[in-house]
Amino acid sequence: MTSAVMPTYARMQISFSHGQGSWLFDDQGRRYLDAISGIAVCNLGHAHPEVRDAIADQAGKLIHTSNLYQIKLQETLASRLRTISGLDSVFFCNSGAEANEAALKLARKYGHDRGVERPKVIVMENSFHGRTLFTLSATGNPKVQEGFEPLVDTFIRVPFDDLKSVESLEDPDIVAILLEPVQGEGGVRIPSKGYLTGIRNLANSRGWLMMLDEVQCGMGRTGRWFAFQHEDLVPDVMTLAKALGNGVPIGACLTRNAASHVLTAGKHGSTFGGNPLACRAAIAVLDTMDREQLVDAAEQSGSALIDMLKNALEGNPGVIDIRGIGLMIGIELDRPCAQLVGKALEQGLLINVTADRVIRLLPPMILNQEERDYLANKLIQLILEFTEDCRTSCGR
Ligand code: PLP
Repeated sequence: MTSAVMPTYARMQISFSHGQGSWLFDDQGRRYLDAISGIAVCNLGHAHPEVRDAIADQAGKLIHTSNLYQIKLQETLASRLRTISGLDSVFFCNSGAEANEAALKLARKYGHDRGVERPKVIVMENSFHGRTLFTLSATGNPKVQEGFEPLVDTFIRVPFDDLKSVESLEDPDIVAILLEPVQGEGGVRIPSKGYLTGIRNLANSRGWLMMLDEVQCGMGRTGRWFAFQHEDLVPDVMTLAKALGNGVPIGACLTRNAASHVLTAGKHGSTFGGNPLACRAAIAVLDTMDREQLVDAAEQSGSALIDMLKNALEGNPGVIDIRGIGLMIGIELDRPCAQLVGKALEQGLLINVTADRVIRLLPPMILNQEERDYLANKLIQLILEFTEDCRTSCGR
């Protein structure tokens, strides 16, 4: 019988019955090292006792009340996020797309409040911001947009990591710029040092909002709480989701200064957004990350992993680039390599391929040394075999 689930994903023929730490287990009891963390979600691994207990406790007390009332846990979480980010106000929702939708609505209203009737937002090639109509229109990938035209035509698109192309834009209708500080779906693209500072300076001088999508690269993933903290700046707007709840759906749009006064009562909302259960889970995530010093761990573990990969693979003609920041790592091959995902699975390893040719690693931040060695050794072996196959079959 065909599945009753809508076929929006080309799913692999495997399902997992449970997880523990960095590992997932299938129905047959086989274990797999999860080097993708549910796509940058389960940063604390699976079934983390502190998060589990917080969710269970909260579920027994209060899951939902609606935003008609004060929600103390939402206040607590917002103030924790304010402290670690330097932004000052938070709107809570349930996903990355919704967080970006809030940011984009905010940008439009910011424009209207200043008399700009058709506000425009600068966005990047190869970006990914979500699957709602507004966020897929912002996304720099035609495959995501195909079939959903007409798109929202608010956007001016420029190449990523190219300050000059932003500088040259002089349209007076521009009100904001939206970008990922590290592009995830686009192939783990890390911009040159100083690029974000350049964008910050331009946004200041032109009166644009600097809006950063940290849905994938935020929450400690790159070895800082937020990827923008690798430079000396604070954006006007930042979006989060994914790892904020370690799997419990929660998204957030953070703002500061003028951007905090744009979305007033009645202008935006969400039934579930910031409910007690989601906020309690996110607070447990922040507590655990603090106590276990996982942001530092991501930096150290990431650089050790990148070193291992570079030592074994650099100089291999099939490997174009090995790049990473913290535990957000991309290995770019000279050819499409989606088939490596299945080969890795057979070896007890979960990886992902994005942008056709980039093996993406987003392992949990609790990864220990033994697990890191397991991951590196299996993956290096797979890449050596794969590039060897390719060399033979391509006659090189
Ligand atoms: N923004 C970025 C940078 C993402 O990587 C993603 C998802 O991969 C999204 C937004 C959309 O998040 P969600 O799938 O939670 O809507």
